[in-house]
Amino acid sequence: QQADIGLIGLGVMGANLALNIAENGYRVAVFNRTVAKTREFYEEAGSLKGQIIPCETLEDLAKNIRAPRPIILMVKAGEAVDEQVAALKPFLAKEDIIIDAGNANFHDTVRRLAELGPNDPTFVGMGVSGGEEGARHGPSIMVGGTPESYARIEPVLTAISAKYHGESCSALLGPDGAGHFVKTIHNGIEYADMQMIAEVYGVLRDGLGLTPEAIGRIFEKWNNGPLNSYLIEITAKVLAATDKKTGEPAVDVILDSAGQKGTGRWAAIEAQMLGIPATGIEAAVAARSISSLVKERSEASKAYGDLGTAKLLDGGQAFIDALEEGLLAGKIAAYAQGFDVMAGASKEHGWNIPLATTARIWRAGCIIRSQFLDQIAAAFEGREGKNLLLAPAFVERMKTGSQSLRKIVAEAALAGLPTPALAAALGYFDSFRQARGTANLIQAQRDFFGAHGFKRIGEEGDFHGPWSEAN
Ligand code: NDP
Repeated sequence: QQADIGLIGLGVMGANLALNIAENGYRVAVFNRTVAKTREFYEEAGSLKGQIIPCETLEDLAKNIRAPRPIILMVKAGEAVDEQVAALKPFLAKEDIIIDAGNANFHDTVRRLAELGPNDPTFVGMGVSGGEEGARHGPSIMVGGTPESYARIEPVLTAISAKYHGESCSALLGPDGAGHFVKTIHNGIEYADMQMIAEVYGVLRDGLGLTPEAIGRIFEKWNNGPLNSYLIEITAKVLAATDKKTGEPAVDVILDSAGQKGTGRWAAIEAQMLGIPATGIEAAVAARSISSLVKERSEASKAYGDLGTAKLLDGGQAFIDALEEGLLAGKIAAYAQGFDVMAGASKEHGWNIPLATTARIWRAGCIIRSQFLDQIAAAFEGREGKNLLLAPAFVERMKTGSQSLRKIVAEAALAGLPTPALAAALGYFDSFRQARGTANLIQAQRDFFGAHGFKRIGEEGDFHGPWSEAN
């Protein structure tokens, strides 16, 4: 019996996705560049072996899938995808679908589609989030492609996806690069979310002098409130863990330098290219870059000392509560930015990304999953494309939340503790709600040095200022 679907790439994500597909009653033919891995995967598939067809060549893979064939590519993003597509094409027909499920840059997805000839198979760009666990038991799936191709793969994607109160977390979000773009912004928001959590951890550690264990208990408690989310949950677990080698709290033996594979950076770059402010995401990407300057930071800490700012903050319950509410407010601003970037890209590329649906398929399966996304989905219902900060439910929350955010950013700044993403979120919020900003001065400066002209309040046309007299 032939397979219903094929999968190439049995790394962490691919192997787990293949088992997920098999477990959901679909027969899956698998292939991996390194053949030994295919054999090993099959041997370890246990009771699911009957649903898996291990293949050692791409020709064999194509033969073992029922036409028209859907084939998922779950290999390293970049050149590996181009190589695999080229190697696979000779064995496929026009009706077949290649689904790139890796973390592709959406520009590559658009290019790959454009490069297909009239007799080549269809190409679908599919973002998958949820890490190893999600891939195995239900990820969030963000698809970019035609409605016809999605209709053909929808049953299997619905089956393997995460479910939020029974609703599938898989959806078609637009044509060509839309799915991979949404995945990129998901990762950008994930960066901001993680960074803001880390900043609050920093205030609790250095401003309040708490132990990892005590901080872990605070996060654990917060996970039962409005901050309830996968990231808060794992933060509590991480802080409670003990290093086996030394018996110290695990976080205390880990180097304070975090890596990045690029998706967060792409989110910031795309926001910049679209001219849409995404300061929370940008600050989070920059914070990872600063984290890598281990040697320089050590040198600078000696050169500057504590500048007399180091002090213990008032760690009473009121401040802990402000940290909880402020973190949520910072998160709201960062999510508002991420969704705005998607709305902007959607307009720019004619994608029509449904924002409420996007929030809905992020409620379960993915790394930023939370109940909070259910409220975001509700806020976008019927008012797609408007900034989240203007949704009535969020206006109410930010009225008080922003005050807590202000308090914690101010206290941290006075104590010399860095909160770049939270501060960026606050700056964005305060600029966004300011009816008369300060760009009148920027306009005047530009006109002064470059004769760029400026607009006057309530008048059409371009004007120049009386600068020659001031010169
Ligand atoms: P792994 O490193 O575990 O596996 C990489 C896979 O790609 C292996 O099967 C490898 O084959 C294959 N591969 C690498 N280079 C080539 C090539 N030139 N030609 C053919 N095959 C190649 O990666 P992951 O499973 O973690 O990631 C796969 C994709 O999923 C990536 O795009 C990643 O960004 C994305 N992703 C990862 C997540 C995660 O949490 N890990 C979450 C969401 C998306 P071989 O065994 O022969 O080396």
